[in-house]
Amino acid sequence: MRAWRVREPGPMSTGPLVECSEPVPRPAAGELLVRVRACGVCRTDLHVAEGDLPVHRSGVVPGHEVVGEVLAGSRSDRFVPGDRVGIAWIRGTCGTCRYCTSGAENLCPGSTYTGWDADGGYAEFATVDAAYAHRLPGGYSDVELAPLLCAGIIGYRALRRADVPAGGRLGIYGFGASAHLAAQAALARGATVHVMTRSATARDLALGLGAASAQGTTEAPPEPLDSAILFAPVGTLVPPALEALDRGGTLAIAGIHLSDVPTLDYQRHLFLERDLRSVTANTRADAAEFLDLAATHRFRVHTTSYPLSEADTALADLAHGRVTGAAVLVP
Ligand SMILES: [Zn+2]
Ligand SMILES: [Zn+2]
Repeated sequence: MRAWRVREPGPMSTGPLVECSEPVPRPAAGELLVRVRACGVCRTDLHVAEGDLPVHRSGVVPGHEVVGEVLAGSRSDRFVPGDRVGIAWIRGTCGTCRYCTSGAENLCPGSTYTGWDADGGYAEFATVDAAYAHRLPGGYSDVELAPLLCAGIIGYRALRRADVPAGGRLGIYGFGASAHLAAQAALARGATVHVMTRSATARDLALGLGAASAQGTTEAPPEPLDSAILFAPVGTLVPPALEALDRGGTLAIAGIHLSDVPTLDYQRHLFLERDLRSVTANTRADAAEFLDLAATHRFRVHTTSYPLSEADTALADLAHGRVTGAAVLVP
């Protein structure tokens, strides 16, 4: 099969990804073999390729938004050959620690991740533990479903972490794949959404989806916010996002990687019980809830497709902010 591997992490200009020809992987006990039909390109893949995240598996195949078809199941009663299935970021947890046993498996110290600890979906075939594979809603194409599997699920968890009250005012900083899905989930629940992003195209997309306003990243929203989510991996946006919060507001940082946060001023940025929170991966329950929502609420998923043979171009485009919505690889 064809697959892309991270040979030597570094800036995209150094060509960290190489395309390989290799045998189809063999599923281990409890795993499914999946023929990849679409794989989303996530900013985390860029962090893996460029070395912002430490190497967990040398020469890993990136990609953790995989939509595919089950070819062979190994002792699985959840899926049969021919089923459409999703492979997402969380790949395994220990199942016994205090986090796993209290509904917080996203914090399991023994957790493993697709496209970081194990090979992912920048390939024609992939494997997944059947217990961590996702059933997918109907009414969407393979390409539309791919970004739901990380961008959508993480955006959904970020919304929960941001504690958006019913009918509340939500600010979204950065408007890529995850943000455009989180905005729709918030609007569906009656929130007023304000978007702060550097990209004029993304501002147009935000307004088209129903955002009340769209402005540049460092501009203040037109009203104080109950909640904000920082999707851009830019630490210098933390102070303006905190300053935009009303009393008692919450800022959730959605990314796995963030550049340095500047010194905060306690009175300006934190006092009056403003909360600053991170978002760390997701639980399988978050994923199931979000995919259930996607079954009943039709998300408009903006995608740009690339052939699998252009995975490096897709990642470079993401690095340079040239992708509107979500990039998706199609083998
Ligand atoms: Zn655990
Ligand atoms: Zn991701």
